[in-house]
Amino acid sequence: MTPLPRAARCRSCSEPIMFVTGPKGTHLPVEVRPSASGNIVLAHDGKHWNAGVLTPGQAAGARADGQNTYLSHFATCRAAEAHRKRAQRAAIRSRSKR
Ligand SMILES: [Zn+2]
Repeated sequence: MTPLPRAARCRSCSEPIMFVTGPKGTHLPVEVRPSASGNIVLAHDGKHWNAGVLTPGQAAGARADGQNTYLSHFATCRAAEAHRKRAQRAAIRSRSKR
């Protein structure tokens, strides 16, 4: 079996991730560890690892078939969380000004 892409580190949160080819030919960062709530399956086409994005039902089916499913790092990045929290704090500040 072709080994998975070498792990890289997220530039925002430095978590280990791997870059695969997304549906539009873009580089898509996914979590290195398979996830039971993942919606991405990886398939190697002889050259690249391609990410297939599944519906929750398809993902459950893939796992039942013994395939690993992965999460997009965009969904789990702690830096993204920090961005959300900043937005929340800003919202709280603007509310308390009333
Ligand atoms: Zn990150």
